[in-house]
Amino acid sequence: MAIAPIKIALKLDEDIVETKANQTRAIILAIALGLFGALLNSYPIELAFSVSLVIGNLAFILAAAYLRPALTLLCALICVAPLFIIWGHPFGFITFGCEALFVSYMRGRGWYLPTADFLYWLIIGMPLTAVLIWFNTAESQGYLLFSLFKQSINAVFYTALAVILIFVFSDKLNGWVKTQQPRLVKNLKQYLHYILWIMSAFFVIGVCLFLSRNLNDIQQKQIEDKLDISSQYLGRIVDNYVDDHKKAVAQIANELSAIEPSSYNDALVRVHQLYPGFITMLIANKEANIVASSPFSLMKNITKNAVSVEDRAYFTEAFFNQSIYVSPVFLGRGFGADPIIAISAPIYLKNNDKPTGVVEGSLNLNLFENVNSFSANDREIEVVLTDENDNVIYAESTLAVTKLSKFNYVLEHVDITPQLMRIESQGSSRERYLYRKIELKNGWKIFVLIEHSQILKLIEQQYLTIFLSLFLIFILVVLLANQIANTLNKPLAFALKELAHGDVKEGYKAIPYDDAPSEFLTLYNELQQSKERLLKHQFILEEKVEKRTKELNKANKALKALASKDSLTGLYNRRYLANKFSELQSILSRNNAAMVVAMLDLDHFKKLNDEHGHLMGDNCLKFVGEAMQRKFDRRSDIVARFGGEEFIVVAQYDEQNGVLKKLEELREEIVQHCFPYDAHHFIGVTISIGAVTANAKFSGNIDDWIRLADEQLYEAKNNGRNQLSTNHLASVSKS
Ligand code: GH3
Ligand code: MG
Ligand code: MG
Repeated sequence: MAIAPIKIALKLDEDIVETKANQTRAIILAIALGLFGALLNSYPIELAFSVSLVIGNLAFILAAAYLRPALTLLCALICVAPLFIIWGHPFGFITFGCEALFVSYMRGRGWYLPTADFLYWLIIGMPLTAVLIWFNTAESQGYLLFSLFKQSINAVFYTALAVILIFVFSDKLNGWVKTQQPRLVKNLKQYLHYILWIMSAFFVIGVCLFLSRNLNDIQQKQIEDKLDISSQYLGRIVDNYVDDHKKAVAQIANELSAIEPSSYNDALVRVHQLYPGFITMLIANKEANIVASSPFSLMKNITKNAVSVEDRAYFTEAFFNQSIYVSPVFLGRGFGADPIIAISAPIYLKNNDKPTGVVEGSLNLNLFENVNSFSANDREIEVVLTDENDNVIYAESTLAVTKLSKFNYVLEHVDITPQLMRIESQGSSRERYLYRKIELKNGWKIFVLIEHSQILKLIEQQYLTIFLSLFLIFILVVLLANQIANTLNKPLAFALKELAHGDVKEGYKAIPYDDAPSEFLTLYNELQQSKERLLKHQFILEEKVEKRTKELNKANKALKALASKDSLTGLYNRRYLANKFSELQSILSRNNAAMVVAMLDLDHFKKLNDEHGHLMGDNCLKFVGEAMQRKFDRRSDIVARFGGEEFIVVAQYDEQNGVLKKLEELREEIVQHCFPYDAHHFIGVTISIGAVTANAKFSGNIDDWIRLADEQLYEAKNNGRNQLSTNHLASVSKS
């Protein structure tokens, strides 16, 4: 008795040890998957310009298939740690942590992983990411839509990848760790949804991302080339522009040396027409007074006010150093506020090595308005030109940079190429640019910029296309799965219904769906045939059983008769007599009635047998039996063959001696009867009867009655046979 509780206790102990082992394994699995995911996340797959694909998160989706939310969250937090370092913000912990909790919880409630994940991003992930971006990083707000698509597509991708891994490795994992999640019971339709959705999502995203990555690579290369080519092109234009005008001034100085000073003005106006890049041109004499100018209107103003240029660098440098001089950039006075440079050269008279004056041209540096048709045609490109001191000479108006102020910018993402820069100036947007910088011969610099958002817009469009394709594919998958499930289900359901209710005789209906797979038709035929065989067998079996049952019933009846009746006379046998006697005796006892038991015996029957044969004897016995039955025909009367040529009659005794009279009549009938022996001879038979009458209560034991009847029979035999001898047990009768 004490063994059972001990056994139960041991079993419980084993269970506890096993659950503990499982719990430990589950924690190890969570950490191992977390580390695996973290490793994958440490090497994000670069898609384009600081946009990368995260696949390490597949680890916590894998975890969700086996582990409850708490451990799945643990796995996710480990996975996301590298992203925190790479991205520099902790949003991943929030969005992916919630994702892990949600997916694991829903999986526990019987949802499929991809459906749960898709649902998460649709109703929680995307809004949550939007809120986080909106309230935290002002820089990223421009890429909000882009970020949302990117995150969701990324999530569908790693979920699909995780589910495929589960398909492949589930056997191994199942052997190692006991899952904490319920088994998913799937009907055909759900199963098809699941498989088709996973496969198509994985391949569509995989192929799209691969193609878009290639496309982006090409685009990146193109953009870099564009930056290179345009920066060099523009650099050369600017270099040439300054050089050409320098040469032009030298040329003009040379030409002016050959003419009279009185013709200076005409000559100057003529050459100025050839070089429209100069806003103004002038000639100063050796006293540094302006003697000629172009346009001529300028001269009129100048002569009135007799302007001296002796304090100007372009005069002193050219006149005293006798060289071609190019000034630093400055803002023009009198002809607008554009940045200009002054280029000057000394003028000599024939065969004179001392200059007689200086020719100067103010070169307009707002040159890109005219020269940079390249940039104007190509809106993607922005150009900034600075002088050797990084002061802005020219910048496109969209950049809102003040001319001749310092060009301030900061570099971002120093680790990726091409680098990104952000211009720091009042009123400018916080737009980021990909840029190229080249330095010109004179120390000037050209920056060619392309807005980063333009590139992201392209990728955003690609992602939008992928997202919409996925959505479309999702709908197609649902329709297709339904269609396939129906194609398989309908014929199956029809076949099953037909097999359950169809009529074998009339034949089964054919499957009414043309698109039913041929295997189904074969199966249906096979099932029909086996059902027919089965029914045939059943029918034969039923017939056999019915026949056997009938025979058995017949045999039983015969057996019953054999058990209770005597085969020769058809009278009840001795065993049956005892039963019947008890029934009658107890009824009569209750009614305080009297009863007769008589014993009949054929006289000298041995002799009859000996002389006339047993057949004759049997006939006599049969006749006596029949005569007794005829005589004692009440329902309560009992007539039985006691054995050999002895019979018993048990009946209710009445005051009119009805029974005794009948016994006398019976004896008489037998005496009277002639038994034919052969055609000419008849024989006669007599019977002796010993009877006892008494109150039924005399005895419940038939033997007591038979003993007394037998005594009377003996009496009758002794007294000469062929007579009735009766014993009335009066005392008993009265009681
Ligand atoms: P008693 O007048 O004193 O009765 O003389 P009995 O010859 O009739 O009596 P006994 O007991 O000497 O002989 C009975 C005979 O009954 C013996 C047997 O051959 C015959 N007998 C018993 N059963 C059957 C039976 O079933 N068929 C035939 N044919 N004879 C039977
Ligand atoms: Mg006898
Ligand atoms: Mg006899």
